[in-house]
Amino acid sequence: MTIRDEAADQYGFETRAIHAGQAPEPTTGSIQVPIFQTSTYVQDALGQHKGYEYARTGNPTRTALEAALASLEGGNFALCFASGLAAETTLLYLFKPGDHILCADDVYGGTYRLFVRVLADYGLKFDFVDMTDLALVEAAIKPETKAVWVETPSNPLLKIVDIAALSQIAHAHGARVVADNTFASPYGQQPLNLGADIIVHSMTKYIGGHSDLVGGALILNDADDHERLTFLQNAIGAVPGPLDCWLALRGLKTLAIRMRAHEQNAMAITNFLLEHPAVEQVIYPGHPSHPQYEIARRQMCCFGGMISFLVKGGLEQAQRVVEKTKLFALAESLGGVESLIEHPTSMTHASLAGSAYLPPANLIRLSVGIESQQDLLADLAQALA
Ligand SMILES: *Cc1c(COP(=O)(O)O)cnc(C)c1O
Repeated sequence: MTIRDEAADQYGFETRAIHAGQAPEPTTGSIQVPIFQTSTYVQDALGQHKGYEYARTGNPTRTALEAALASLEGGNFALCFASGLAAETTLLYLFKPGDHILCADDVYGGTYRLFVRVLADYGLKFDFVDMTDLALVEAAIKPETKAVWVETPSNPLLKIVDIAALSQIAHAHGARVVADNTFASPYGQQPLNLGADIIVHSMTKYIGGHSDLVGGALILNDADDHERLTFLQNAIGAVPGPLDCWLALRGLKTLAIRMRAHEQNAMAITNFLLEHPAVEQVIYPGHPSHPQYEIARRQMCCFGGMISFLVKGGLEQAQRVVEKTKLFALAESLGGVESLIEHPTSMTHASLAGSAYLPPANLIRLSVGIESQQDLLADLAQALA
């Protein structure tokens, strides 16, 4: 139900993050959007209400968050959900049995699990291809392909896919482009402006930014898809609570400044790892050594804090390193102010075991936080020694 706050469109990103959809509350003047902790709304007379009837259908804290997100992604509409996967599940109800969804081969493990181990049983068809090679995309599209699903930067290999070129191919075949923009965040890249049709976010990551909430969002321009998704948001009911919406809104306010700090630290760590004798390869989209650096530079304005690297010595060495860091906490998830380290094969991507898409065993993923740079470098140095 939420439409972008057009009054905010004249302002820059940082201003919209703080003000779009977030006018002071009119009855009290509260400068912050309140946490509307309610399940229902009183009606003045039958059918006469102030735009809210029941809190699954709508909540003013959620409305504010949705308006802010739509503004930041340059979309007409946004809808929020209880988690990133709740947003994805609701989105997938746009499709019918027999529809084919072409998905990037290096997606979030939970996305892969939802597609292959849940939705495939209900008649949706999925294929996975390396979308850094657009000829493979072209070849894999079928007459029944209804969506092309991309994640860029991808997880955990941080592959970069050319969203504009991918969108041209998908649209020529009548398929929508869904872009999971979780890793870049709305500050790092705006896929709708590059031709994508629907953006997926896990707000749990950079949007929340403080590792204190789980949430998801969809942002889009098409009014018909929006109408159907608004119906599905209410009919399926996987909505976020008002406190989580409020936390996400508070996170949004500092998104730009946090993303720049993540990027600065990540760049320094990339340079350190590239020189380190125990490291075989470093993957960071913001460094010229990245194979798709030119595309990254064209479509992203900030590269964020995600780094993956391969250590020499295989599985045991990777497991030793992730257990030896002190500031980098051993944990799943990403995008918070604190630095995290993880081993994808045993943690976030364990659900891919037995598939062709399991990442290399000597891969380590860092979510670089915004702590002091010299402390993070020293921690990695002692862990790799
Ligand atoms: C975490 C994540 C998801 C799932 O989001 P949840 O909020 O954990 O449900 C989807 N895509 C990406 C890229 C993620 O990192």
